[in-house]
Amino acid sequence: QLSLSNLTKSYGQTLVLRDVSLEIAHGEFLTLLGPSGCGKSTLLRIIAGLEVQDGGSLAVDGRNVDGERPRARDVAMVFQSYALYPHMTVAANMALPLRMRRLSAWQRLPIVGRFLPGTRRAAAEVEAAVGETANALGIGHLLDRKPGQLSGGQRQRVAVGRAMVRNPAVFLMDEPLSNLDAKLRVQMRSEIKELHRRLGVTFVYVTHDQSEAMTLSDRVAVMLDGQLLQVARPQDIYADPSDRRVAEFVGSPK
Ligand code: ATP
Ligand code: MG
Repeated sequence: QLSLSNLTKSYGQTLVLRDVSLEIAHGEFLTLLGPSGCGKSTLLRIIAGLEVQDGGSLAVDGRNVDGERPRARDVAMVFQSYALYPHMTVAANMALPLRMRRLSAWQRLPIVGRFLPGTRRAAAEVEAAVGETANALGIGHLLDRKPGQLSGGQRQRVAVGRAMVRNPAVFLMDEPLSNLDAKLRVQMRSEIKELHRRLGVTFVYVTHDQSEAMTLSDRVAVMLDGQLLQVARPQDIYADPSDRRVAEFVGSPK
């Protein structure tokens, strides 16, 4: 479904991605695993369309999306920092992707006023979608709060919810659990797994936590210094690492 071919990216003199190629199947849970600074977030941002690669290309369902704006890509991203708007309520934060989509459709209309009844209906639909998603994530009672009044785990659920309301074909998650304490991290891990099972869509998940990668993923892509060293099922990476650097990183006996 996602096809990355020979992607490269530099910041100034620093080569951050070196010739990254990867095929990700429909409904797969693929994890990018690698140490801090190896280029995981950069790769995810390129898939999302928030950053442009220097070389190589990217296709979704066989369609080249190079140069396509993030909103046109049918992908949704959960950021490392959650990126919630502090002055807006949980409900408003979660509704944002839907409102933005609505607005861009709107701007194309010749006489906006003529469509006001439809717009009102749209607002009710947005509210319903947000409410439903929030309930599914166990944050239905928090819709009127601001992010500052939430715990880390609740904030993380809001960030996931905001990605979910778009109903994307691909979920991109950048270390969504890294700000949580150890106990909550393990609990949220199973929630993410359950979410993947329920939605049945493709997840590209980023972490530097090996046990997280091993328990969640269908396949793990081990990344070091902007390169994918090995892409394989978790057990295979551990049992049969492709080289010494992978073995060292995953702590395999080899
Ligand atoms: P972490 O696990 O710490 O989040 P990461 O694997 O996500 O790390 P990236 O954020 O992709 O790493 O960064 C890869 C490299 O690119 C790092 O050396 C970083 O300093 C550099 N880098 C990232 N963004 C920029 C930028 N906008 N300008 C210059 N350098 C950047
Ligand atoms: Mg990162």
